[in-house]
Amino acid sequence: MTYDTNNIFAKILRGEIPCKKIYEDDFALAFYDIHPAAPTHALVIPKGAYENHEAFTANASDEAMAGFSRAIGKVATMIGVTEGGYRLIANSGANGGQEVPHYHVHILGGGRLGPMMAGTLNSD
Ligand code: AMP
Repeated sequence: MTYDTNNIFAKILRGEIPCKKIYEDDFALAFYDIHPAAPTHALVIPKGAYENHEAFTANASDEAMAGFSRAIGKVATMIGVTEGGYRLIANSGANGGQEVPHYHVHILGGGRLGPMMAGTLNSD
């Protein structure tokens, strides 16, 4: 799979469309999800062009991977979910339900989230 430079998160990174920014550093950008699936729902994306987790871990530098991972921790603290607890999700590909082909980690919290999966298999 080749990286689609016109995906919506690439456009956010280039400043072509707005986002509700939470945090930014050399490695990551974090913003609120436009359709929150929990009382608090943030997205953290790496700055490089990686479509999913395996592309990121195969191709990003150790510095970029460490920086991205640290950014997730910082953002979780900034959005106030660490005390009550939260969930990280990274969807990949069709079976994972990935909609935007730029690697991203969801941070979900702000309330009790319920079971991890609605169902093992989904027909849609
Ligand atoms: P995924 O299904 O893991 O690819 O998740 C993509 C997420 O991006 C969904 O939760 C969408 O609500 C969210 N999303 C799509 N467009 C935007 C946008 N312009 N700003 C913020 N979040 C977005």
